[in-house]
Amino acid sequence: MKIMITGGAGFIGSAVVRHILKNSDFSVINVDSLTYAGNLESIKIANQDSKRYFFEKIDICNSDHIAKLFTKYQPDKIMHLAAESHVDRSIDNPDDFIKTNIFGTYCLLKESYQYYLGSGKEFIFHHISTDEVYGDLGFNSELFTEESSYMPSSPYSASKASSDHLVRAWNKTYQLPVIISNCSNNYGPYQFPEKLIPRMILSALNGKDLPIYGDGSQIRDWLYVEDHAKALFKLIKEGKSGETYNIGGNNEMTNLEVVKTICSFLDINILNKPKNIESFSQLIKFVKDRPGHDKRYAIDATKIHNDHAWKPEESFESGIEKTINWYIKNDVWWKRILSGEYLKNRH
Ligand code: NAD
Repeated sequence: MKIMITGGAGFIGSAVVRHILKNSDFSVINVDSLTYAGNLESIKIANQDSKRYFFEKIDICNSDHIAKLFTKYQPDKIMHLAAESHVDRSIDNPDDFIKTNIFGTYCLLKESYQYYLGSGKEFIFHHISTDEVYGDLGFNSELFTEESSYMPSSPYSASKASSDHLVRAWNKTYQLPVIISNCSNNYGPYQFPEKLIPRMILSALNGKDLPIYGDGSQIRDWLYVEDHAKALFKLIKEGKSGETYNIGGNNEMTNLEVVKTICSFLDINILNKPKNIESFSQLIKFVKDRPGHDKRYAIDATKIHNDHAWKPEESFESGIEKTINWYIKNDVWWKRILSGEYLKNRH
């Protein structure tokens, strides 16, 4: 079995590449243009001895290059994770979000369809999407299900919603076999330090302020990234064409609770605290809220649980402990990012 994975040098994509190479005899073709968020050092351990791993530095917006990849590798399935993924960046500069998330997905769909017609394979196009497409959930509202309507709030979530619509259209109009999965917030090893959890861990370790938007009352449903990778691998093997699956951690927490949990863990485990503080929570600083900031996202993952026997294995407590310990032990990985060193000399 050959699986083409787009965005395999990113946070979730690299977890999926590592998981598949470790837990199956499948081959993986990693297609990634290596934006600032792509880092081949995140998959070094998984691929260094593997004859089943191939890397192609390709932009998904380039249809000709994508078509050549299909001809070269003849993949059985594609898992599409390549995207611009940071909400703050989408507010400051939406261009790349519209280009990669919408036009790039269109290019992949177009070339996948041509390939599917000619290959005779039982192909499937799995689009990895987000719960943010459903928009803002009231504090007392029911959880998002696969039937919830789309009401995206940010340029990021609107671009992901657009790409979901394109994927459904290629299924309905052209009968391209597709699966869509919409997942809640992920955290874990190898996450780029602009996102909430790694940013807080690294800022705390470096004695810097821990900036929290507004009053920190926004609720997210947190999922450990390796649990997400396991769910995606199940779906690519077993998922039914035309279906959508919600994936979540059943771990609703406010941003403030998340940061306080990180601080409590560090208080116990880091004896030499920076700046003569007694608790890392002294570094918390409330800052002006992000425009259009959704109050709550929360997922009902009953369908994937019932149909594919998937449920998260990590609680937030066990997952955050693994994550913090990983960042403490792997300072070489993130110091190269923070210094800009990792962007130099890339092939
Ligand atoms: P990421 O930003 O860490 O990684 C994205 C990867 O895509 C990078 O390796 C980057 O180089 C690559 N890429 C970007 N533009 C490209 C292009 N034009 N051509 C080829 N490659 C390109 O993102 P992530 O957090 O790993 O998210 C992966 C996917 O999962 C995204 O589609 C995102 O919307 C979705 N998702 C993320 C989360 C989360 O919490 N991070 C939650 C739900 C869904």
